[in-house]
Amino acid sequence: MNKAITNFSKIRILIIGSGIIGKSNAFTLSNHGFDITLVDQNEQHNSSNAALGILMGKVYQKRKGRSWALRQKSSELWPKWIKILQNYNSKLRFEKPFFQLTNDLEKFKKLTTFANNNPNDDLETVIANSYILNSINKIFKGNKLQGIISHQDGRISPRVLIETLNVVLKSKNIKTINNKIIKIEKINKSWYSKLKTGEILISEIVILCNSLDALKLISPEKYDIKLKPVVGQAVEITNREKNSDFLSLPKVLNINGKNLITISNKKIIIGSTDEYNFKPEEFYLNELFEFLEQRPNWLNKKNITRKWFGIRSRPEGEGSPLLKSLEKGLILCSGFYKNGILLAPACSHWVSEEIKKHI
Ligand SMILES: Cc1cc2nc3c(=O)[nH]c(=O)nc-3n(C[C@H](O)[C@H](O)[C@H](O)COP(=O)(O)OP(=O)(O)OC[C@H]3O[C@@H](n4cnc5c(N)ncnc54)[C@H](O)[C@@H]3O)c2cc1C
Repeated sequence: MNKAITNFSKIRILIIGSGIIGKSNAFTLSNHGFDITLVDQNEQHNSSNAALGILMGKVYQKRKGRSWALRQKSSELWPKWIKILQNYNSKLRFEKPFFQLTNDLEKFKKLTTFANNNPNDDLETVIANSYILNSINKIFKGNKLQGIISHQDGRISPRVLIETLNVVLKSKNIKTINNKIIKIEKINKSWYSKLKTGEILISEIVILCNSLDALKLISPEKYDIKLKPVVGQAVEITNREKNSDFLSLPKVLNINGKNLITISNKKIIIGSTDEYNFKPEEFYLNELFEFLEQRPNWLNKKNITRKWFGIRSRPEGEGSPLLKSLEKGLILCSGFYKNGILLAPACSHWVSEEIKKHI
């Protein structure tokens, strides 16, 4: 860091892409007093709005390496973020715990060993005939589900989170522009970013948080970066049976790899698919209904009352996400495949540290 620069308000940062990653970076960097502008042309239809918002940090079984380190950092930061964000919106909640269940005996044994090996992580083993699972096993008839409860994992509603971050960013005078950046170029020591309308935004730093489209603004060959699209579909199911009672289920659960969120006594959300494509396909929707040996009647495609999808970006040849300084004043924060909401605090912490090398 250039020691002569102490007034960060003179450093202009342009964040391209206002999904959860762009907003989280703006939130973290705003604490340092930078002059921040956030640009997005279509933030209502990004993958952040499609997300289920499940935070699975402690149930991650690989306990070393970069992915684990990012999860650890986010697990530490999320409770602090919630505390701050609740000052702006009391509706923001971190709904815990998270149930990870299976009817596969081998998988259950693995989960038990994992919970036993990590006694400090608030992981509790629950067997099929445990009273805690009574209502779950009743609703998922005949499947004998068992697994672990992770008391520190859970869910944040992405919609409420996005709304809250919008309020925070407004209160911190972050400028937002509803437009598309079509070109970025470095001239001398500054970055010139051209909007679709022709206007030029000048900044000392550009942070690319625009998922797959980051590749359209840089030369991917020069930096050896490859990203591929992964569609994720999710559905809301309405159980019209008279005595349906999804509210007796935990708020957030994962059964045989599929995530479920209880919305009301009749509604449940199930997600998500992994489709290596730009477009959702009907065929993959079946996965959301075929994750149990014995399927209860209500778990049926004809009960879909809402469905949606988002396009995530997955790095090829390296792990997700891509956090890189590409050159002086240019940072890439993209390639968030499955866990962008979970990893947002850890990644924006990385950006706020990395940025010191650029000023
Ligand atoms: C169905 C589904 C369920 C999911 N569930 C979970 C979950 O439970 N937990 C979890 O942690 N994660 C989940 N995810 C993953 C999570 O949604 C993503 O990892 C995360 O939203 C990525 O955020 P992002 O900001 O990088 O991308 P996005 O939200 O896609 O935002 C990128 C933004 O960049 C903008 N943009 C692109 N190009 C330009 C340009 N040239 N100029 C200006 N703006 C531009 C776009 O308009 C867009 O708004 C889920 C994803 C899906 C699809």
